[in-house]
Amino acid sequence: MNSKKKLKTTCSYCGVGCGILAEVNPQAKVSVQGDPEHPVNAGMLCSKGMNLHYVVNDTSDRILYPEMRWSRTHPRQRVTWDEALDRAAAVFKSLIRKHGPNSVGFYISGQCLTEEYYIANKLAKGFLGTNNIDTNSRLCMSSAVVAYKKTFGEDSVPISYADIELADTFLIAGANPAWNHPILFRRLEKHKEKNPNTKVIVVDPRKTDSASFADIHLQLIPGTDIILYNAIGRRLIETGYADESFVKNHTENYQAYRKQVMETSLKDAAALCGITVDEIKEVSELIGKAKGFISMWAMGLNQSSIGTDKNFALLNLSLVTGKVGKPGNGPFSLTGQPNAMGGREVGGMANLLAVHKDLQNPQHRQDVADFWGVDQISPTPGYTATEMFDALASGEMKAVWVICTNPMVSLPNLGQIEKAFANAKFVVVQDISHRSDTVAYADLVLPAAGWLEKEGTMTNSERRISYLNKGINPPGEARPDVEILCDFAKRMGFRGFNFANAEEIYEEYCAMTKGTNIDISFLNYDRLKNEGSIQWPVPEYRHPGTARLFADKKFYTPSQKAIFNIPAQIENTSEKISAEFPFVLTTGRIRDQWHTMTKTGKVARLRTHYAQPVLEISRLDGYIYKVKDGDVVEVKSKNGIVRVRAKISNSVRNGVVFLPMHWGKQLENDLNRANNLTFTRVDPQSKEPDFKYTTVSVTKY
Ligand code: SF4
Repeated sequence: MNSKKKLKTTCSYCGVGCGILAEVNPQAKVSVQGDPEHPVNAGMLCSKGMNLHYVVNDTSDRILYPEMRWSRTHPRQRVTWDEALDRAAAVFKSLIRKHGPNSVGFYISGQCLTEEYYIANKLAKGFLGTNNIDTNSRLCMSSAVVAYKKTFGEDSVPISYADIELADTFLIAGANPAWNHPILFRRLEKHKEKNPNTKVIVVDPRKTDSASFADIHLQLIPGTDIILYNAIGRRLIETGYADESFVKNHTENYQAYRKQVMETSLKDAAALCGITVDEIKEVSELIGKAKGFISMWAMGLNQSSIGTDKNFALLNLSLVTGKVGKPGNGPFSLTGQPNAMGGREVGGMANLLAVHKDLQNPQHRQDVADFWGVDQISPTPGYTATEMFDALASGEMKAVWVICTNPMVSLPNLGQIEKAFANAKFVVVQDISHRSDTVAYADLVLPAAGWLEKEGTMTNSERRISYLNKGINPPGEARPDVEILCDFAKRMGFRGFNFANAEEIYEEYCAMTKGTNIDISFLNYDRLKNEGSIQWPVPEYRHPGTARLFADKKFYTPSQKAIFNIPAQIENTSEKISAEFPFVLTTGRIRDQWHTMTKTGKVARLRTHYAQPVLEISRLDGYIYKVKDGDVVEVKSKNGIVRVRAKISNSVRNGVVFLPMHWGKQLENDLNRANNLTFTRVDPQSKEPDFKYTTVSVTKY
């Protein structure tokens, strides 16, 4: 008898959201393959997804039981769950009594399942009385969120992956999907193979694999993106490609847009961006005459101190050409994490409320309070990711509960994060792995269940909700995150957390969506299990899901028109190149690693691509600065130092260096961390940190 179990689930890494068939043998060992029936990946998996079973089967790094220390001078010791959660509740009660609810906070993750996100938000905003709950999605998509809300009236990605096969022109901006969204990129490659007239334009200071595949690579000077998109907008208007009817009937604020784009000549724009006028004209022509124009972007736009403005400038290209709401047309932000969108749906950031309601809106706050049966939601905006750690460092916040993320590697300005943890009175880390650098700073460590060890849902980049199956039990005493949070809430004395399982939490959230633009009130676990994933909104029983928004050209703004937002600043001037710091450092990801390598770093075959972090520097800069391939170099910013080997590369512009963001102290040493160099400098609208523009020096060590 074959007692192997086969389960359908979803990859836990990137926002593409590939379907996986997991097989569990009688010894609870897991193997994986792509789900051939899944609409996203049709059986394909990238290197990370196809090695996911190694991560699950190797439990050597797992946190197996709660650990606690009574003071910073004592080592952590194993404790029972009762001792752990009683202490957490006692400390939170005491801090809130003495210093108020804003003295505590949660820093969570775009890898949390929707049910986990929902419960953490209900706990913080509804019952603890603080909006201090933010997430590492702040480092990922928050600039796009602000831009979507201001342009379309709500945080709504208009299109689907299926639009890729309907488009003929793609503008990929500040993203390297060939490495970071590989299965999505594979769809684009296949589409171009079948339709050779399809044009791909990549805008990136680096010649990435995506740029190498492109028909046109605009290797612009970092920080000049808005100048480029405005120049394209100007050229589109001047050559008659503006869709006057769409602009007149379905948009607002066009004249202000027109005025701004006309302020800079193509010649000046080209010079500022470090490209040619002909390139701007050629790209404009392709976009203007496209039958299907899709823009895709990721961190190169979002992770910037002018990230929201960059998003506006790119979205405006879809508006001015009227290429939105039609098959094969529209803007498409590429979510980095598997459930960053699900988190946004349930209000998973310090300035949001569930079901896309706004914390600033008194009626929205009351709606949410009424739904949860509490008097009110505090109107005080919570601390965002970087603000939260600043508040811990300054003593304004006393306690932080970190779930499923590793800020000691991933946040900017790691010196400040170390200070924050050292100064915090109480640090809880709820995670699966001892490989997280953040665990070392915890007063209380809570072992969580990982992928395939719990059930729940996630939403990918195209609004597709999928169900994740439980196939095995978590090791040791690890528990699902929702169970831990509900247990804690009950010990705090809060009602409203008596859920028998994740499904009941999901159902509560679904009921909350009724009548909203993200209505999934008819989408239950049974349907997701039996029929597979589906795109929101799903507003009626048997509704097939919604592949494309705004087909009726009615946007979610009060006027139902899309809005041209005008960038307040067109160039990143947050730092100036100087003789002391002559390079712009940009950080990012490499093909086979994920975030801070707590999972992918365990897999030997994924470490062969890059065994160590290396600094990419151009051949000319290597010659000028006497750096040879393989030399150890010291990279310095005003903030810190990194020492890594140099890689002479034809892929970066002269004057630009690139460093991967994955490595932390645990894996190598603390001089490997890209975020020693970066600053706590954020976009004023989205509060997303700038990881793409730090001036540095590079010298042979
Ligand atoms: Fe997983 Fe993303 Fe790779 Fe798909 S593309 S297998 S979701 S990491």
